[in-house]
Amino acid sequence: MRARLAAVPLCVLLLLSGSAEAKKKKPATSKPTAPLARLVGEAITSDVGWERLVHLCDRIGHRLSGSPQLDKAIAWAQERMREDGLVEVRAEPVEVPAWVRGSASLKLITPRPMPLDVLALGGSVATPEGGIEADVLVVDSLDDIASRDEGEVAGRIVVYDLPFTSYRETVGIRVRGAAAAAKKGAVASLVRSVGPKSLQTPHTGNQGYEEGVTPIPTAAITVEASEMLRRLQERGTTPRLALELGCSMAPPAQSANVIGEVRGSEKPEEIVLVSCHLDSWDVGQGAQDDGAGCMAAMEAGRLIARLPEPPLRTVRVVLFTNEENGLAGGKTYAAEHADETHFAVLESDTGAGTPLGFRVDLRVPPTEPGGEAVRDDDAWPATLENLAPLAAALAPLDAAKLTPGYAGADISPLVRMGAPGFGLSQDMSGYWPIHHTEADTIDKIDPVIFRKNVAVFTTAAWVLANMSDPPRP
Ligand code: ZN
Ligand code: ZN
Repeated sequence: MRARLAAVPLCVLLLLSGSAEAKKKKPATSKPTAPLARLVGEAITSDVGWERLVHLCDRIGHRLSGSPQLDKAIAWAQERMREDGLVEVRAEPVEVPAWVRGSASLKLITPRPMPLDVLALGGSVATPEGGIEADVLVVDSLDDIASRDEGEVAGRIVVYDLPFTSYRETVGIRVRGAAAAAKKGAVASLVRSVGPKSLQTPHTGNQGYEEGVTPIPTAAITVEASEMLRRLQERGTTPRLALELGCSMAPPAQSANVIGEVRGSEKPEEIVLVSCHLDSWDVGQGAQDDGAGCMAAMEAGRLIARLPEPPLRTVRVVLFTNEENGLAGGKTYAAEHADETHFAVLESDTGAGTPLGFRVDLRVPPTEPGGEAVRDDDAWPATLENLAPLAAALAPLDAAKLTPGYAGADISPLVRMGAPGFGLSQDMSGYWPIHHTEADTIDKIDPVIFRKNVAVFTTAAWVLANMSDPPRP
């Protein structure tokens, strides 16, 4: 307990004690600041969110769409929300794809026998009975494979060895690599794991076959194996591999978005949505991706529900399903709630590192129904002025950095319809090395920093639910 309190920043303690500095500031919202101080104090000292994350990780485990673990998590989260005093708690049905990983093995045959770690990519087909044994062709990129003659590629296992720079720049080999290799006649494709460093940990993730292109088995290998295969090829040896994948596609499954609310007192029809995704890949514990985000969203709901007075607008907590391999939860929600007013939509889906602020995605709403909202970069300075109350409330938590950017996958369909999007941004240096791996387990999360994330997420939800001006100018 002592260590935990010692880590509370001094500025937060000043805020809690109602220091002269804090009192001088103009109230950040049209409500008094006392509830905000209480929310931050409880977020930083409460064990509830952390103990729930421990339960989710250790007792329920990873939660792929269509799995019994995800069903269990959906039922458990609803029980907790009811206990917390949220209203309208429900599971809104969503049909999700159900992919089954099955067994997997990869062996180096030439130049020497050696087992290699492998993780099939989401949606991959199985190898034929008995597996595939083939020579390897190591390429750098999607452009590289596109420039090759079919004769060079046909019958080979293509290995994409593209070193990580950023997720955005390198994830393309995972998403489109199999289709690009299949077009040239490859029998399978393997990608260097999309992550900055590796301790023999392959990273899974989703991939997409192309219509009209024969689907080939596809999987992630470790950075170590990928670099070794490249070194062999560069020194004149054609490596040979044996790959066996037992993946299969089950019929679509019934899943659900978990929803609970704190009704607004004055503008209940205006919604501040606080979200995450409850599903995860079927490796590790889905701790940082995105168990921590979900427990922070639930804490925001719980802490706000405990206040003696509700916020002006409705705070709606949504734990989306199927972010990892389909986005069916986000798409279904946006379609079914298109008529409602989403004043702001928040998501936490970038781990549990030190919170820095929010990536804000504000677009001009479409003029016609079904149209797509467009970004207006010229509006950013005026937006920042409108968001001054939010920045002021986040400053004592050292998390006041508001930057234009992508807010989150699950809320992206709402943002494209014009809802102002806010993605909780964190230090991600500890996130990418374990993203989508067996190592995404709760021991990588610092409980003190997790609680700080809860404080930041809760603060933003509260301020936006009480702010007088809308985020967009
Ligand atoms: Zn995620
Ligand atoms: Zn993910």
